[in-house]
Amino acid sequence: MDRTIYQNGQGNGAGVKAQTATTNQARPARSTMQSEYIWLDGELVPFERATVHFLNPTLHYGPGVFEGIRCYATARGPAVFRLREHLERFLASARVLGVTDLPYGLDELRDAICRTVCANGFSECYIRPLMYFDGPLGLNLDAYRPVVAIAAWKWGAYLGQEGLETGVRMMVSSMTRMHPNSSMTKAKISGQYVNSILAKTMAARAGFDEAVMLDPDGYVAECTGENLLLVRDRIIYTTPRAAILEGITRDTVITLARDAGYTVVEERLSRDQLYIADEVFVCGTAAEVAPVREIDYRAIGNGRVGPVTHHLQQLFYSAVRGEHHRSAEWLDYMVMEPMI
Ligand code: PMP
Repeated sequence: MDRTIYQNGQGNGAGVKAQTATTNQARPARSTMQSEYIWLDGELVPFERATVHFLNPTLHYGPGVFEGIRCYATARGPAVFRLREHLERFLASARVLGVTDLPYGLDELRDAICRTVCANGFSECYIRPLMYFDGPLGLNLDAYRPVVAIAAWKWGAYLGQEGLETGVRMMVSSMTRMHPNSSMTKAKISGQYVNSILAKTMAARAGFDEAVMLDPDGYVAECTGENLLLVRDRIIYTTPRAAILEGITRDTVITLARDAGYTVVEERLSRDQLYIADEVFVCGTAAEVAPVREIDYRAIGNGRVGPVTHHLQQLFYSAVRGEHHRSAEWLDYMVMEPMI
């Protein structure tokens, strides 16, 4: 069978069909997420040993929670950006899902992440904690046993380096973001990401970098893995928190913007407010701060990276690299305590 392999998060819309191949082997392999060790339920194990049996409720039904975190190279060594906030959200996600017996607390998870980054010798990396379940198939969470695993690997810009520099292209998805009463918008629950996968895949196959998702009332919610902000007359607008994931990068950008004297307004936005904005940008841990140059075939502003977005990108990168006055409160330096 002739299969077209679509680029996922690598381009900025120009390369719709990245390559053509005849087998699954041409798809990006898991090996792009390489490391020597993975932390699995209390211990570091070699990468190959971090496997799960297929009779597993998370694999079948999607209960599970995860985080996406970045560790940056700084002058003082590798530092994880806003680790405490990410771990608090991880614990909150488990609580929202209804887990009552998570075997690890914040300090143990922080220690596990530090061990994972240090054991693999990364100076910068992406970090993925996942809580999944062991146990019988069936739909009662109380029959499952929660397990936590943490992987880390080198991961470049999720929406592509070119996208960061010149802006990404997006479409408004025909998929609706879930209603807050049919999903849990404050939790990174694994199965809920099928909604994101449906929207992202259709956008990528149509040649776009990302999809804008509207809420059940038709107002802008967020993207499949990023929050969304727009700029008009130098005022920054973003959607209220009720129906979106409370992004840690969104909070970072809002804080940096207010520090720098910008007004930031949280209010409902319609899709055409995006079309007529001076600037639009998305933000998330994987995507960082990425300008948007086109939505639904309409150029945003003059189709180039706008001055406010550029300024916020600069502030963001100085914060994650330890060069901003906020860095001290936001960076957690990864150093192994010597074993005595
Ligand atoms: N919205 C969704 C749906 C996401 O998956 C993410 C990525 N976690 C974000 C927003 C951005 O969140 P953060 O900045 O905390 O990574």
